[in-house]
Amino acid sequence: MAVPSLHLGRPVGALGPRTIQVSTRTRLSQPVSIRRFQTTAQRRDDGNTYDVVVVGSGCSGLTAAAVAAKYGLKTLVVEKSRFFGGTTAYSGGGAWIPANKHQPEVGITDDSFEKADGYLKRVLGDLYDQTKVHQFLRQGPKMVEWMEANTEMKFKPVPLPDYQETIPGASAARTILTKEYDGSPLGRRLLNDVRYTLEGYHVFGSLQVDPAEIPVLTNAFGSLSNFIASSSKVFRYAWDVIRFGKGAYMANGNALVGRLLKTCSGEGVTLWKESPASKLITNDKKEVVGIVINRSNGGPTTINVKKGVVLAGGGFSRSEEDARKVFPHEWSAAPKHNVGDGKNMAQAVGGYLPPPNPNNGIFAPISLHKVKDGPIRRFPHFSTDRTKPGAIIVAPNGRRFGNEAEPYQEFVKKLHQLNISKAYLIADRTFLRKYGMGLALAAPMPVRHLIRDGYLIEAPSIRELAQKIEVPAEELEKTVAAMNEYAKTGVDPEFHRGETIYDKFYGDPSTGLPNSSLGYCVRAPFYALPLYPGNVSSTYGIATNENAQVVDAKNQPIPGLYAVGCDSNSVMRGEYPGGGSSIGPGMTFGYVAGHQLAGKALE
Ligand SMILES: Cc1cc2nc3c(=O)[nH]c(=O)nc-3n(C[C@H](O)[C@H](O)[C@H](O)COP(=O)(O)OP(=O)(O)OC[C@H]3O[C@@H](n4cnc5c(N)ncnc54)[C@H](O)[C@@H]3O)c2cc1C
Repeated sequence: MAVPSLHLGRPVGALGPRTIQVSTRTRLSQPVSIRRFQTTAQRRDDGNTYDVVVVGSGCSGLTAAAVAAKYGLKTLVVEKSRFFGGTTAYSGGGAWIPANKHQPEVGITDDSFEKADGYLKRVLGDLYDQTKVHQFLRQGPKMVEWMEANTEMKFKPVPLPDYQETIPGASAARTILTKEYDGSPLGRRLLNDVRYTLEGYHVFGSLQVDPAEIPVLTNAFGSLSNFIASSSKVFRYAWDVIRFGKGAYMANGNALVGRLLKTCSGEGVTLWKESPASKLITNDKKEVVGIVINRSNGGPTTINVKKGVVLAGGGFSRSEEDARKVFPHEWSAAPKHNVGDGKNMAQAVGGYLPPPNPNNGIFAPISLHKVKDGPIRRFPHFSTDRTKPGAIIVAPNGRRFGNEAEPYQEFVKKLHQLNISKAYLIADRTFLRKYGMGLALAAPMPVRHLIRDGYLIEAPSIRELAQKIEVPAEELEKTVAAMNEYAKTGVDPEFHRGETIYDKFYGDPSTGLPNSSLGYCVRAPFYALPLYPGNVSSTYGIATNENAQVVDAKNQPIPGLYAVGCDSNSVMRGEYPGGGSSIGPGMTFGYVAGHQLAGKALE
């Protein structure tokens, strides 16, 4: 790391603690040496008092905690679930950060604050909030630089175009991914405390794969180098399982959580799992001065908080009551603990819940695997299958209703508009073996159990498939025949699939067909997979200002209270301008909150 660690006994660098807190919001400037007389143990043993308490261990909360701890604040992260990482650990780990330092690596040299601002103004329309958008655009690139210089975070660029690519100001690459991470330094206990990726996003229990590895692994026997790379990955995995009880190679959102957790543990952040926060405590000046935590190993504990509480509980998409009010669909792939505790706690101390946005979540079509006597497994279909050549999606009338490869937010909005509560992804055997369909992974992974459970429906002909899923057979046959014709000509006259940079990005040029997004559906058996409109997060939450402070109905900050990530009303207000529009702002405002708490000026 470029900046020395703040651990005592080692040199204190530019970020070293220069203040100590003597009472709520009273700061006394002290030379660095005063802190040096305290040992780490003394700081930790300071009863139930912390400078900062962060509620939730996703990307937003852990970023705030990492920044606060790096500046020397005594920080506690409480996590409700048995695992750290929240929805973030399930995610692709992509962060949408315009004008970030990595864009030139993929040839983008013309991005700027002004360009991105113009784009957001157009995408958000009436929802555009200049103060918050400007803070996001100003601090996002700085967050990336600061995190890479001071923490374990490492990003990498991806040439994924913005999702409204025809709108002026769009860029061809603003999304950055988390670099894959060898989680061995987390140690056996912490590694096992990281939330597993969603079913279907790993193989053999916990072997994770970076997107860049997929072409190699799905063609392991295609060349000697593919074979060597694939088998060494499997051997490494087996060795990790012996050492740690699970795979230590972390990719995507798991790598993001692994890197942030490593930073937090290295900076002495106290991490409590199975410890839901339930209530904020205020003093007579309405300042937040404490929080009640219900620890699994011993009743409610009141924690005194000197500087502030950061609510980062990941929103409410799994709260049946709140979700029903704002989502026109039933299913969410977020973890079951994300039920709006942060929003509820904030409201109880005067935090303002604005009226809902036109859209209130990150949408994705979801397939459901109902296992006997077990929870329903939910697989969000972002890009792994429905965007690939040969995928066809039909409504219950057997007809297509849009471009299958469209960005997920827009695709589900269309389902809502057309009132389609169930659609079918249709493909043939070649497609299934090459790309997989949801939880049915590409060859050589077995799929029989999924057919047996009714998750994936198989039939020897399109006609019989139509009968099995109860859609009009003639219509489905006509649809498939038309798509086969489009694959040949390379033109989809109905919905223009394959014409955008986005469609091409997720297409497959290796088919050799004229349009990398269009392919054939001709080889029996044929498959159908039911898809439902759903979400992976709520994005509607408690009102915050540009400093991530929770505000009341008069837009006045509630002292000592911050909300970030999906607990706050997103700066994107439920729109999705590009890949990573949740994690990008979540980490940026986590970074902002960390600076505010530490009393460090933001540039
Ligand atoms: C498969 C998948 C892929 C995705 N890919 C992307 C992507 O690439 N880019 C992107 O921007 N978004 C993506 N998303 C969405 C994104 O993951 C989330 O919107 C984002 O991670 C939310 O971050 P967060 O910090 O707000 O909350 P979370 O990561 O959900 O963390 C919140 C945590 O708070 C805990 N919590 C809740 N209540 C309490 C309480 N009372 N006390 C203590 N803890 C509590 C929860 O248990 C949870 O662990 C994806 C989602 C999924 C499911």
